[in-house]
Amino acid sequence: MKGVWLLLLLVAAAKAERVFVGDQVFRVEVQSEEHIRLLQALEAKQEWELDFWLHPVSTELPVDIRVPRPSLSSVKMYLNSHNIPFSVIIDDLQALLDKEKAEMKENHMKERSTRSFNFGAYHTLDTIYSFMDTLVAQYPNLVSKEKIGTSYENRPMYVLKFSTGGIGRPAIWIDTGIHSREWVSQATGVWTANKIATDYGNDASLTSLLNTMDIYMLILANPDGYAYTHTNDRMWRKTRSKISGSVCRGVDPNRNWDAGFGGPGASSNPCSDSYHGPSAHSEIEVKNVVDLIKKHGNFKSFISVHAYSQLLMYPYGYTCSDVPHRAELDSVGRAAAQKLTALYGTAYKVGSICKIIYQASGGSIDWSYKVGIKYSFAFELRDTGRYGFILPANQIIPTASETWLALKHIMEYVRDHPY
Ligand SMILES: [Zn+2]
Repeated sequence: MKGVWLLLLLVAAAKAERVFVGDQVFRVEVQSEEHIRLLQALEAKQEWELDFWLHPVSTELPVDIRVPRPSLSSVKMYLNSHNIPFSVIIDDLQALLDKEKAEMKENHMKERSTRSFNFGAYHTLDTIYSFMDTLVAQYPNLVSKEKIGTSYENRPMYVLKFSTGGIGRPAIWIDTGIHSREWVSQATGVWTANKIATDYGNDASLTSLLNTMDIYMLILANPDGYAYTHTNDRMWRKTRSKISGSVCRGVDPNRNWDAGFGGPGASSNPCSDSYHGPSAHSEIEVKNVVDLIKKHGNFKSFISVHAYSQLLMYPYGYTCSDVPHRAELDSVGRAAAQKLTALYGTAYKVGSICKIIYQASGGSIDWSYKVGIKYSFAFELRDTGRYGFILPANQIIPTASETWLALKHIMEYVRDHPY
């Protein structure tokens, strides 16, 4: 009997959700190159188990650090002793997470009793998958669901295909949630899929677009990671693959693409949140997308949606040299951001990944550009750090609505500029 209890205890321990009681998020206003150097040294201190939500890279951008409670005094001492100013933007992360969870639960009950889907709420993987089925059932002549493979933990990966017919039409790719903890990304994907379905036949521009082009959406680009953020660790970013020779799991799926793979801005340490993985496309979730895009062969735009920071970016990430189409991508990006900002005044920065945030190798839009998809863009949605990854659900619809205007601008531009 003792053995059984021990086993149950172990199972319970293995399943226990990670808590962040007393963890704080610091915002550091970087004022000099010296600050960057010192913050990079801080990031290298593994014993403090810091989680850099925004990395120290330039004096133009702030740095956000989740500091576990046991490390609070050490980190404060470090920053103070080097005269690096900072403020506390999240006082107790667990309090925010508890609130998020309570809201989800409440919404779940409400959705069950009213038999409706609330686009202004965060949902589990299962609920998003059943939303997809509902959408396909509601709009069978426009929307279909394609399984592009399975994840490392054997979850199906589905794309929604919006098509009015034809074979091999030029197509637009949109993926959300490749980094699992960036929840507003997946939620924006859900809202956007519904928007496309309901606007077809009602919005003249989108209708004309879908009369000549297809749209593919992968809402859960990292399904294992997403499930894990709900059950075990809300702060999980990577895939869940096992790495031989390491106790740490998971690869950063946005450092795993065959574009400058393993270069600067990716880590070779499996315990790092930006671990690039053993080889390019080692992650089945990445490989499934690569295979689909290659097999299809006629994607004209590739858009990847992240959070947070409010940025609209184009290649390259792996190098700071310009892409041949820099001027065009920059002007499309700026016009798209202008449309977005016009709705609620949300400010966006536009530029290449390398110049606007940091050098990051092995990213998806560098790969898509490299294989010939000219209109490759990446979004970092709201906010700029007040809530970071824990964006309150009441901002989902505003975020998705403004983002839609930018997405639509890019898609219309692609439609009007065949190549
Ligand atoms: Zn991301």
